[in-house]
Amino acid sequence: MNVETATSAQPAAERLRITEIFHSIQGEADAIGWRTVFVRLTGCPLRCVWCDTEYSFYGGNWRDMDSILAEVASHGASHVCVTGGEPLAQKRCLILLRRLCDAGYEVSLETSGALDVAAVDPRVRKVMDLKAPDSGEAQRNLWSNLDHLLPHDQLKIVIASRADYEWARDVVAKHSLDARCMVLFSPVHGAVEPRVLAEWIIEDKLPVRFQLQLHKLLWNDAPGH
Ligand code: SF4
Repeated sequence: MNVETATSAQPAAERLRITEIFHSIQGEADAIGWRTVFVRLTGCPLRCVWCDTEYSFYGGNWRDMDSILAEVASHGASHVCVTGGEPLAQKRCLILLRRLCDAGYEVSLETSGALDVAAVDPRVRKVMDLKAPDSGEAQRNLWSNLDHLLPHDQLKIVIASRADYEWARDVVAKHSLDARCMVLFSPVHGAVEPRVLAEWIIEDKLPVRFQLQLHKLLWNDAPGH
């Protein structure tokens, strides 16, 4: 990681607090398997009980937009994923997303579903969570976000129990989620056997896509991958 600390000469309007920028393989959603540069923004207003990126809640380094773009470019990948934490908690994330799109990248945004996505550049592929009850944050779902999803976006529901699964199944039906965009069901590592979740999906003939996180299989979720 090549972290630069912003100087006082750089205007705050062009800076973002960054936990890490790294080059790896996309481990989930529609772009799974592509070589991707990840830009992880610091901070999140949620506290999902199964969160696997708690190290991004605090700290980080202020980086100016140009240095972020330059480091992304240095990796020579066509895909860029802006993630967190909750990247939209920093308003200037919207500027970064637009500049990455302008530079010609395939850009995705991983977001919790708790913050308004209306102003996200439409060229960005949003990968938006809906929080199931066992996350402890289901009350934070901003349901109006569903109206801002585009066909290239993806909805992700992370499932920790049979109760979560039934909640997710009912939400898909109630809001016709599969008619809006791709819906992904993903098991919480160590809480639901992946095969059990797969069998529930088959049994109920759900219009959703099962996924396992590739980076957990490859690198056991170590930071920087
Ligand atoms: S929204 Fe994401 S980063 Fe924030 S606590 Fe939940 S899983 Fe962790």
